[in-house]
Formats: sequence, C-alpha cells, structure tokens
Amino acid sequence: MGLIVQKFGGTSVANAERLRNVAQIIADTYRQGNRVVAVLSAQGDTTDDLIEKAREINPNASRREMDMLLSTGEQISCALCAMAIETMGLPVVSLTGWQAGIQTNSSYSSARIKKINVERVQSELDRSHSIVIVTGFQGINKYGDVTTLGRGGSDTSAVAHAALKADLCQIYTDVDGIYTADPRHVTGARKLEEITFDEMLELASLGAQVLHNRSVELAKKYQVNLEVLSSFEKKPGTKVKEVAKQMEKTQISGVAKDKNVARLALVGVEDKPGIAYKVFSLLGQQNINVDIILQSIGRNETQDISFTVRRSDVDQAVALLEEHKASLAFDHIDVDKSVVKVSIVGAGMVDNAGVAAKMFGALYDADINIHMISTSEIKVSVLLDEVDANHAVQAIHDKFFGE
Ligand code: ASP
Ligand code: MG
Repeated sequence: MGLIVQKFGGTSVANAERLRNVAQIIADTYRQGNRVVAVLSAQGDTTDDLIEKAREINPNASRREMDMLLSTGEQISCALCAMAIETMGLPVVSLTGWQAGIQTNSSYSSARIKKINVERVQSELDRSHSIVIVTGFQGINKYGDVTTLGRGGSDTSAVAHAALKADLCQIYTDVDGIYTADPRHVTGARKLEEITFDEMLELASLGAQVLHNRSVELAKKYQVNLEVLSSFEKKPGTKVKEVAKQMEKTQISGVAKDKNVARLALVGVEDKPGIAYKVFSLLGQQNINVDIILQSIGRNETQDISFTVRRSDVDQAVALLEEHKASLAFDHIDVDKSVVKVSIVGAGMVDNAGVAAKMFGALYDADINIHMISTSEIKVSVLLDEVDANHAVQAIHDKFFGE
C-alpha cells in the first residue's frame, strides 16, 4: 500500500463528464489499496476567465486581490470532484491550499512554497482513510493571506505534496507523455518511456509546456518518482527520473523550438575591458535574461557583441542600451525579432562525440543557415530565421530518430 499523489490539469477536469472520469481514476487507485492525494487545477479556461473578470472591474487590481480571486477556480473543481467521489460511496474530503498546510512567501501571483504542514492531510489519510483532494496552485503566506504560485503552478503543488514521502507522483494531462518533438507539428515524433530531470528541465524552459518548470526542479531536489500520463487514455506515460534508460541508438531525447527569442547586436563596440560587464549587468539589473552571447573578433579597434533575449523583453533592452549609449561606446544596435531557437537535448550527449556535428549536418542538408550556436553538457541550441523553424526541427528530428 502506497501513497500516490495524482495531479489533474484543467482540461482533465473541464466539465462534469471529465470530472467523473477523474473521480473514477482516483477511486480506482484508492480501491487498489493506496492512499491518494489528488491535486486539481481549475476547470478549463476558468483562470483566464477570472483574469478577464478582474480586468473589467479594475485593470490595475492589486496582486493580493488577484490571488484571492484566482484561487477560487481550484476550489470549484476540487469540491465538485469530491462530490463525484461521494456518489461512489468512498470517504473523501477536499481542502484548500491553506487547509492543506501549504505555506508560501508573500510574492503574490508567483509565490514560492516554503513549507508544508502535513498534519491535516496526514490525519485525513490515516485516521479517516479519506481520499484527499487539494487545490493546486495556491498556499497561504505568513500574514494568513491566500497566494498563488504562478500560471501552471498546480504541477508544483502536486510535486510539493509528493516530496513528503509519496511513492509516486502522477501528472495527468491531455497528452499521453513527453515526446521527442511536438507531435502536432513533427511527423515521426515518438513518446519517450523515460526522461531525466535535467533533460525535462531543459525542455520545459525551451517551451515544452507539459510541466511547470519549478515542479521539475522540486522533483529533482526531492527525488520524486514522477510520471506524466493522459487522463483520457489508459496507457503508460513518460517517467521522469534522475537516470533514464537510453533510447536505443538515439543520442538525444528531444528537439524543441522556442519562438520567444530575439537577437540584438551592439555593432562597433570599442574593444576594451569592461564593456561586456557593463552591458550585461545593466540588463541583469532590469531582470532581462540573456541567453546566447557571441562576441566577434575585434578589428579596427571595434567589435560586435550579439546576444539573445526573450522577444517580449527586446524593446526594454534596446531602450536601456540606447540610454547608456555614450558609456557603452557602440555605434548602433541591430535588432532581429524574426529568429527562433532550436535545440536538441540529451543526457547522453556527454558520452557521444559528434552530436552537435550531426545536428549541423541536418541543417546543412536542409540548406538552413545558422546565426548563433550555444552548447551545454546536455543541450545544443542554434539560432535560425523563424521561417526555417519547422523545417529545421523536422530535419533534425529525422536525422536523429530516422524517417
Ligand atoms: N489554474 C492555474 C492556471 O491556469 C494553475 C494550473 O492550472 O496549474 O495557470
Ligand atoms: Mg499545466
């Protein structure tokens, strides 16, 4: 008999029929002799609808009140799910984040979990043998106010509960696992049986929106047994773990693209010490994340520094740099917003020479030009023209995973 935490996303609980389906999955797990904590998201588009409602009233509402509002979505789905389980004659109780002891800091709308007081959940599980349904995405701060963890935060709630000695944490969603590429756009994309925490972290930050980034960080930290699977079809999903089985003969686990990227170039920068330091500390102070950086060789006492930022940050970055043009001593800024970052991710890369070359070969065969390259132990990223994105992903995927 184990303790299993099951998380169900918004589409999995979108209406009465789907809620009954979720109740059935929970009930089956319970009847197999497990203790079950289920963490639910708000139904369907509820969170977006609530944000819209707030805008109608006050577009500048305080984040405290926004959290008060947004936390209600999860209360609805949890209470309804508990009612569905009641009809099956099983003991069940639904709890809000604060009832379940989730203590967070006070960063409303992006709060971090600090601690979980487990007494209530424990006693419901052990003393009344109840199924416990907990609202995802929320907690309470030291002032006793409701906080939320940021969009998609229910995954993190689930993993946090699981970190307290659950045997398994299942993330039920509308896809049946993690794929080698986005199956909606790439032919031949295959489901992975297993993937490592590190690979999943890279893929999550590259825009594969299956799991909330912080949930993967937390799962790695506490070595939670994590599994992503579908609530619509009964079949095995993808296991996320510290060390994963290598897929036969493939050196990578996935290909991902990220469109939220833009390239800036400071052209004609004076070739002297301290410039890179100044540029990137300025951007850092404004919380503008820089990703790939390239500095050209100096010629005629000047050089170019190119780098990528999130596309949504580009205007702010340009304004900031222009403001300091005199002290940064550059000639002009060149901006390219129609670029995309395509990456391959694989824990096996470290032991396999030639993985990057293979990726570049695929792009060469497809006649696609590379603007920038960056690598880490488990990732190779290239910056390309946006128009080439889909073609590039397909070509790279074909190269590594066969036609
Ligand atoms: N309901 C919240 C959202 O839509 C949290 C979640 O679904 O994980 O972002
Ligand atoms: Mg989600």
